[in-house]
Amino acid sequence: MTGTIIDGIAIGKEIREEIKERVTVLKDKGCQPGLAVILVGDNQASRTYVKNKQKSTLEVGMKSELIELPATITEEELLGYVTKLNNDDSINGILVQLPLPEHIDENLVIRAIDPTKDVDGFHPENVGKMIIGQQAYLSCTPYGIIKLLERTGTEISGKHAVIVGRSNIVGKPMGQLLLQRDATVTYCHSKTKDLASFTKQADILIVAIGKTKFITGDDIKEGAVVIDVGMNRDENGKLCGDVDFTSAKEVASAITPVPGGVGPMTITMLLKNTLQSAEQACTRENC
Ligand code: NDP
Repeated sequence: MTGTIIDGIAIGKEIREEIKERVTVLKDKGCQPGLAVILVGDNQASRTYVKNKQKSTLEVGMKSELIELPATITEEELLGYVTKLNNDDSINGILVQLPLPEHIDENLVIRAIDPTKDVDGFHPENVGKMIIGQQAYLSCTPYGIIKLLERTGTEISGKHAVIVGRSNIVGKPMGQLLLQRDATVTYCHSKTKDLASFTKQADILIVAIGKTKFITGDDIKEGAVVIDVGMNRDENGKLCGDVDFTSAKEVASAITPVPGGVGPMTITMLLKNTLQSAEQACTRENC
């Protein structure tokens, strides 16, 4: 079997076109959605992510604001910027690019963001609401994966989903979103014994560990849908995932490539969350 390649670039583009249309409607009502990004320090990877986010924000017709701050900024000063954005009606989404310098408490900063503008879906209020199935901003990467599964017609209900990785931004929310869609969910992590015995049972296998080509075709059940979240560099500096694509695609029924799978969906869902926030604000203001 050679698996279908799940095209995150095409699916992401399709969703961004839909977002663009809804942004036009809001703009006609005088409510242009706005996304503000706070970038602290000069981590090159963060700078690249932020640049891509800004580009996509402008492409769908939203306002993009970038606040660049030095790595030496105090926690209090940074919190001041967050408060200012919380009170700015032209801003519907606030994103603080992580990681932050060590002297700043990331959790404190995330908690300072108004939950109605927390378009990354990291605020404990949104995480809690998501877990009990209430409307919330969903963490962008797992939300994007759900969209990939839905738009490729992948059945989730009754399937065994195995998630490798349990981070707060990917693994944990991923499992919860699949559970809500009636999958039977197994979480694996670095202390899991005999990992392959679990991954081989997966109808849907989601790998988010940050280890180059760690899962191979031998670890995958014939016909599984494989979602590779990893973004790593191989020995030649080439971008690659946590799954060995070449061997895995021979076993999987469908698989995401890296790049071009999950990555484009993460930015897309950030825009979708910002749109949701803007639409709600626009209704509140009786536009
Ligand atoms: P974290 O480092 O926060 O978490 C990694 C998880 O993997 C942990 O739960 C860890 O277990 C688990 N793990 C590590 N080694 C093993 C192992 N040998 N066997 C089983 N589990 C293991 O990573 P993130 O979740 O933030 O990111 C994971 C990957 O996804 C990275 O490559 C990152 O770059 C990428 N990523 C991609 C995004 C995209 O848009 N495409 C977005 C976000 C992340 P434990 O908890 O026990 O330590």
